[in-house]
Amino acid sequence: MSEKLPFFKYHPDPLKTGSFRESEFPIVCPCCHNENLIVYEGPFYSTSDVYGICPDCIASGAAAEKFDGEFQDSESTDEVDDPEKIDELTRRTPGYNGWQQEYWKAHCGDFCAFLGYVGYDDLKQMGLLDEILEDPDIADYQDLLPELTRDGSVQGDLFRCLHCGKHLLHIDCD
Ligand SMILES: [Zn+2]
Ligand SMILES: [Zn+2]
Repeated sequence: MSEKLPFFKYHPDPLKTGSFRESEFPIVCPCCHNENLIVYEGPFYSTSDVYGICPDCIASGAAAEKFDGEFQDSESTDEVDDPEKIDELTRRTPGYNGWQQEYWKAHCGDFCAFLGYVGYDDLKQMGLLDEILEDPDIADYQDLLPELTRDGSVQGDLFRCLHCGKHLLHIDCD
């Protein structure tokens, strides 16, 4: 199924992260009105209450335009100066479901790719603990790291820099 998805550089595997799910029956996209088997389950900040936006209408920006919404709150990201990159992230990239407030990391002047939710054991297995701790923001929360789970009240959101490949973590707690 995933080959039918447009490629989102800031969210390369949105089926795996659960921002899209495959539906057994077709859902009508509120934007283009086409039937679709891939349903968006991530956040969409808009005054209209819309459900079932199709991947193509996210990628093209049509849904953000039509419903004047954002998939990621532009106030809740690391700073990136380029308006085109901000537009691509907030209006043309599927968001993810944070425990509390989704936060998008940036590195090398660009937003990172969101890889998914991780727990402490995942980070250990991937050999990423040292790399993650190079981030002073994370070093401050070192004590929390062993409590990280994929879907518990202390969730790890893992990102990778599109330019230098460095992994970055956002800790999301309730
Ligand atoms: Zn659509
Ligand atoms: Zn980088």
